[in-house]
Amino acid sequence: MTAHKGLFIDGRFTEALDEATLEVLNPHDGTVIATVAEAGAADVDRAVDAATRAFPAWSSLAGSERGRRLLRLADAIEANADEFARLESLDTGHPINDTTLLDVPRTAATFRYFGGMADKFEGNLPPVDAGFLNYVLREPIGVVGQIVPWNFPLMFCGWKLGPALAAGNTVVMKPSELVPLSTLRLCELFEEVGIAAGVVNVVPGYGNRAGAHLAAHQDVGKLSFTGSTRTGRSIVEASAGNLKRLQLELGGKGANIIFDDANLVAAVNGSAFAIFHNQGQACIAGSRLIVQESVYDEFVERFVALASSIRLGDPLSSDTEMGPLTSAEHRDRVLDYVAVAIDEGGELLAGGAPPDAPDLRAGFYFAPTVIRADPTSRVCREEVFGPFVTVSSFRDEAEAIEIANLTDYGLGAGLWTSDLSRAHRVAATLRSGMVWINCYKRVHPASPFGGVRHSGYGREMGFDAMHEYTEAKSVWVNVNATVPPWYRRD
Ligand code: NAD
Repeated sequence: MTAHKGLFIDGRFTEALDEATLEVLNPHDGTVIATVAEAGAADVDRAVDAATRAFPAWSSLAGSERGRRLLRLADAIEANADEFARLESLDTGHPINDTTLLDVPRTAATFRYFGGMADKFEGNLPPVDAGFLNYVLREPIGVVGQIVPWNFPLMFCGWKLGPALAAGNTVVMKPSELVPLSTLRLCELFEEVGIAAGVVNVVPGYGNRAGAHLAAHQDVGKLSFTGSTRTGRSIVEASAGNLKRLQLELGGKGANIIFDDANLVAAVNGSAFAIFHNQGQACIAGSRLIVQESVYDEFVERFVALASSIRLGDPLSSDTEMGPLTSAEHRDRVLDYVAVAIDEGGELLAGGAPPDAPDLRAGFYFAPTVIRADPTSRVCREEVFGPFVTVSSFRDEAEAIEIANLTDYGLGAGLWTSDLSRAHRVAATLRSGMVWINCYKRVHPASPFGGVRHSGYGREMGFDAMHEYTEAKSVWVNVNATVPPWYRRD
């Protein structure tokens, strides 16, 4: 039986004005699990109106009050943790162990972090000229649009709604058309935790309809976008009409450098997590392995053995280590990239195709894939966004850095070494918003997350996110009411 879900506007679930719907598929077997109302431009307008009306009351609540409601939301997510984990696995294909241990607790932790932040984020008092007081307020922007991709829908609710709401903004969020279910389930918790009607509105729909309209909307003061670099560019153009503020979290092509003095067991395991977690559908995935010649054979042998042993299966089974990709179109795109790699002289070391196990044939599965490739080839420069990792070798530190910096992206990068000086030296030279040393893909609500160059600009998380969701207002006071000499007339 399939569920039916409406748009969430002004605190209520509602149909799209033109009654359009979209089907949500289970990536494990391609069956329809829900139909969801599909927002068009007029529905986005309704959502923006609701958020506009809700803004004065929400923004004038004391920070501690907004914080209290976000803390309650974190508690409510935890109280429904099993249901959220199951729903996220069913909808996205993430293995249930991952959604249980990572996605759901991280979402609650992020709301809790920003709940705590709401009454601690302060303005400041610049030391200006004698006789004057200057204070700087951090004010919410107003109605904020948020457009989210399909790889971590629930977690991105925490990352985006947390700081936006803590700062006093109201929100219109457009989740991905492929995976809207956990976001809509979250909406069911708002009333009980005290997040009033209109403060958060959720309009599932397609990018070229609901998304493009939200990006161009005159009454939206800021847009936070997570998605591909190509869509990011169209968001920049769409935002020009009202010069709305932008935050762009775009694609990546993470370099993962293995030096010959690394702990190889840790490096092999950490590098497998870096690429195969969430089937490689992560902007920060370590999708380019760059391995020092002297340990290349040993590392690659162990890595390929691990990749080939990963258990693919039903995301709802606790034995499953890797689930399906989120859509059939995306699985086909990954397959196309295997052909591109081979055409360019790449050597297939593992995977390269959907698995042929009978129980996985109806789903959107793809085997963990390892390909030896020239670091200048297309598959080493373009984002594949699947369980697809290239591997190439380097002679010395300088060459490793040169290869790592070959792409236009600059989101996440990793390096494995036991030489502390080298670790810091190399981290400083990588063109990347985040660097992991002897680990990969660590994230935390307190640590800024974001990229440089074609990976976008702006930061999620931490105090940086609070700056992203507020404007500075500088107020000057002439303390002694003196008239400065340059316009004195008496
Ligand atoms: P996408 O760009 O196709 O879509 C992202 C979102 O934008 C979806 O909600 C989509 O409906 C919407 N959209 C599409 N066209 C639009 C338009 N013209 N105007 C407004 N909205 C539009 O990306 P995707 O395929 O859903 O996600 C994968 C991409 O997201 C990858 O490139 C990945 O690296 C990136 N990503 C980045 C981060 C990060 O934090 N840097 C995190 C996760 C994913």
